[in-house]
Amino acid sequence: MRLLIIGPPGAGKGTQSVLIADKLGIPAISTGDIFRFNVKNETELGKKAKSYMDAGEYVPDSLTNELVRDRLSHDDAQSGFLLDGYPRTQPQVDTLDEILAEQENSLDGVILLEADQEELVSRLANRAREQGRTDDSEEVIRHRLELYTEETEPLISIYSDRGMVARVDGLGEIGEVTERIDAAIASFG
Ligand code: AMP
Repeated sequence: MRLLIIGPPGAGKGTQSVLIADKLGIPAISTGDIFRFNVKNETELGKKAKSYMDAGEYVPDSLTNELVRDRLSHDDAQSGFLLDGYPRTQPQVDTLDEILAEQENSLDGVILLEADQEELVSRLANRAREQGRTDDSEEVIRHRLELYTEETEPLISIYSDRGMVARVDGLGEIGEVTERIDAAIASFG
């Protein structure tokens, strides 16, 4: 299966992606995790991405698209994948369409994980404390949410027009949300 999970920062995409991808036997590919790994290891990509991430901005499409193109060419992604946190902009949607067309593949569905804004701010603040994430100060959190509303939320209509989106309520226990996502994936057929 080739799936996307879209939703605001803090909705639980990362946690759910790993659980769902494990069950389906496909890799969960998180662009945020890949960027964080590169920042931590001070790679060239990490050095370029760090300032954007620290400010809660999107890393430029050119870098992000290149990273995803490379990652989707690996062997483990040939029989399917769950992309978490990509695409986030229109040029990223276009690039993903191109990559899939080149591979003569297509997406099976898009999981839209929804959650209330105030709940998200408090979740993100807690996570920042627990994980020491430098991109999660209160100001940066609000900016990340705004950016999601302005840049990424509009993309949902592109996939809705293709009849691919399943909306899932992201509030509740982790297991409950996983069950809702399982049901959504079953609906993709
Ligand atoms: P995430 O863990 O998905 O919230 O991503 C953390 C940070 O990585 C984001 O705030 C961005 O700075 C960067 N990032 C992750 N995915 C993307 C993407 N698809 N496009 C641009 N920047 C991204």
